[in-house]
Parts: sequence; C-alpha cells; structure tokens
Amino acid sequence: KRITIAIDGFSSTGKSTLAKQLAKKLGYVYVDTGAMYRAVTYFAMQNNWVTENTLDKNSLINHLDEVHLKFHFNEALGFAEMFLNGVNVEQEIRTLEVSQNVSRVAEISEVRAKLVQQQQEMGRNKGVVMDGRDIGTVVFPNAELKIFMTASAETRAERRFNELIEKGQHVTFEDVLENVQQRDYIDTHRDDSPLVQAADAVVVDNSTLSKEEQFDVVLNLVNQ
Ligand code: C5P
Repeated sequence: KRITIAIDGFSSTGKSTLAKQLAKKLGYVYVDTGAMYRAVTYFAMQNNWVTENTLDKNSLINHLDEVHLKFHFNEALGFAEMFLNGVNVEQEIRTLEVSQNVSRVAEISEVRAKLVQQQQEMGRNKGVVMDGRDIGTVVFPNAELKIFMTASAETRAERRFNELIEKGQHVTFEDVLENVQQRDYIDTHRDDSPLVQAADAVVVDNSTLSKEEQFDVVLNLVNQ
C-alpha cells in the first residue's frame, strides 16, 4: 500500500538526503518543499523587494499570482529540479543569500497558503515523500509516517558549509552557522505554522547515526 511520508525538522538535518533515498527505494515521488520557498524568495530578490534588512512583503503578496513553480525530474541527477516561471533555478536557489532571506518570506501567510495548496495537490495520490517544516503538522496531518529530524547546530552548519564550498561558493563557517541558527529561530517563532514536532512523529537524531544507519532505521518504520 502506498503511503505518505512526512519528513520535518530543522535546517540541514539531512532531511533531503533521507527523503531522496526513501523515494528511490520505494519508487515514490520526492517533493522538496524548501525549494518552493526558496524559489519564491529568489523571485522577490529578482524584483528587488529584498534588501539586507527589509522585505517588501506587500509587493510580493500583490504579485504572488505571477509565481509559477514546477518540478522537473532530471534523470541524470536522479532528482527533480525547481523551475520558476519556466526557468531552471535549481542552482540559484541554493545560495547563502537565498538562505539568508528565505525564512522571512516563509513567514508570510499568503505565501504559505499558496505553497501548501500546491503541495497537497502534489501528494494527493500518495506514494510521496515530502520534506519541510510543516508537512506532518499542516500539509499532511494524516500522513501514515512522520519523521522529525534533529542534529546539533554545529553538525548541521558543518554539513551545509561543506556543501557550499563544494559548489564553489565563498562562505565562512561562522556565516553558515549563524544562518542555520537564525533560520531555526525564525522557523520556530513565526505565527503561521511554526516548526514544531508533530505529536505522532518519530524523532531521528542524525548527529549520532551514519546515512546508512539512518536509512535502515526509517525503512524499518516504513515496512512496519
Ligand atoms: O528545507 P530548506 O532548508 O531548503 O528550507 C528553506 C526555508 O524554507 C526554511 O528555513 C524555512 O524557512 C522555509 N520552509 C518552510 N516550510 C517548509 C519548507 C521550508 O517554512 N515546508
């Protein structure tokens, strides 16, 4: 029986790695909801509605209808890439600059309503692994399996730092750590759908587990 798997947790806890592994193994669709919030943020940046300390929320809300998001599966990469208004923005949405602004965009209720609706649509036929912050609580409160992933901020920042360096981006560890902590704070304190662990979620702490161990633990839960 095909089920819905919701994976939530703090930034850079390895949610997407686990979600991709599961989707591949089970033949499910993987949906990276963070990519959607990132693409809306990139849209706001392209329109100059984002500066260091301000975000022109009204302009973004007024132009939300102009944001068309689509995932296209890339066979060679083995995962779906994000397209914003027909343009592949997979690289652009992964920068530290987008990471530094995305949590402020994700606080906007109108943005959340639009994306949540699209996510529910994508998962309506089950057989989906979705990762984010509110999947088990808001998007699919009836998901058959909910995972909540945690790891220390240092472990997470180190992982994100290495990823960015690998991609050739010029960042410091301190900036990445600060960004991870800042996003945790905003994500857990916003009014609309704050990041909280669903009551029926299984906690996976991957500071202590290898990728393989973590995958085995979760696969056992799927098969139960
Ligand atoms: O998962 P990722 O780190 O790419 O998500 C980027 C940001 O998007 C998060 O820090 C959070 O602010 C926002 N987000 C959200 N709800 C989701 C997924 C992501 O608010 N379901």
